[in-house]
Amino acid sequence: MLPRKERFFIPDGVIYLDGNSLGILPKGAMARAQQVINEEWGQSLIRAWNSADWMGLPQKVGDRIAALIGAPAGSVATGDTLSIKVYQALDAALKMRPSRRVILSDSGNFPTDLYMAQGLIQTIGKGHQLLTPDPEAVMDQITDDVAVVMLTHVDYRTGRMHDMDAVTAKAHSVGAVMIWDLAHSAGALPVNLEQSNAEFAVGCTYKYLNGGPGAPAFIYARPDIVDSIDPALSGWMGHASPFAMTPDYRPAMSTERLRVGTPPVVQLSILDAALDVWNDIDLQELRQASIELSETFIREVEARCPGLELASPRDPEKRGSQVSFRFDEGYAVIQALIDRGVIGDFRAPNVMRFGFTPLYLDQQDVIAAAEILQTVLDEKLWSHPKYQVKSRVT
Ligand SMILES: *Cc1c(COP(=O)(O)O)cnc(C)c1O
Repeated sequence: MLPRKERFFIPDGVIYLDGNSLGILPKGAMARAQQVINEEWGQSLIRAWNSADWMGLPQKVGDRIAALIGAPAGSVATGDTLSIKVYQALDAALKMRPSRRVILSDSGNFPTDLYMAQGLIQTIGKGHQLLTPDPEAVMDQITDDVAVVMLTHVDYRTGRMHDMDAVTAKAHSVGAVMIWDLAHSAGALPVNLEQSNAEFAVGCTYKYLNGGPGAPAFIYARPDIVDSIDPALSGWMGHASPFAMTPDYRPAMSTERLRVGTPPVVQLSILDAALDVWNDIDLQELRQASIELSETFIREVEARCPGLELASPRDPEKRGSQVSFRFDEGYAVIQALIDRGVIGDFRAPNVMRFGFTPLYLDQQDVIAAAEILQTVLDEKLWSHPKYQVKSRVT
């Protein structure tokens, strides 16, 4: 049964609607962090690469993530940041279609995905073009000059969700390669990568997977294409035999070739422990609970706060696990909410985001959050000057 609040450290007086940005600390992760620092690093030192199997961690954690995104064991590599993984996937995908020059994304994509594409285009220097139509127009722009369709499944701002199977099928029908960014999908809803048949997927683990700030990213490559991938970032940890120390690069014959350098052992250990909370979670049940939470929130907020405009799709089937509202003073409203224990966040220019994480939220939390939002708006609490000052991180 959901939620599983007892598995998390939920600070007193906090209703946390930002697990779509940084998940809450799982209790097991705290214990593991202490163990990896005190015992493994502190006592075993370099011996821990073998004795604590630090060397096996990236693959072990990759397999656990694979199970949450409908991918087979061995198909997911972990490490680095999502931005890096986007770059690797896009480079590999473009090399699969050397005669085509168009990368198709959308205007709702997360900026770093687009920035990495722009940088890669420059590095390759062959005049590739990045197209970013409105999300609703993407399907019509999948034509046979497109090399790669690179989309984020769930829009970070609005929560709007692409139809993974339909878009992938359309991309394949014109001979394009498909990359999905699962940043707002992994741990948020059921994903079936194998069924979609997409070539690549990438994602991060500090959002719905609760791996902690800066937790390593992941990359999936469809097993039948792995051996033909020519890695852009040919680091030693992706080598077939890193400790042979040979002068020439020879990629591992597995998804491991998408690893780059030394794994972030402390963060990977914390993530490994954080993933324990998923062991007995049914993702269909999670999705049902997520829809119920977000439907309650929309209903309560619309009844209480007529000045807000829903920025997310009204149909829950077209939404991920977040709900956003537009309001010109959204930044100040979020600051006023945070001061009252309701933590959401703000994305420019005017979007207030609220994430729904059924592992540690229940209906009462959501209703209480809507009540506090109503108070902040009715009493114009947001207009206090202290809520107008923008911090570096919004
Ligand atoms: C959160 C997020 C990122 C962040 O990338 P990092 O390299 O981890 O900073 C990238 N893309 C999308 C779609 C995201 O939601």
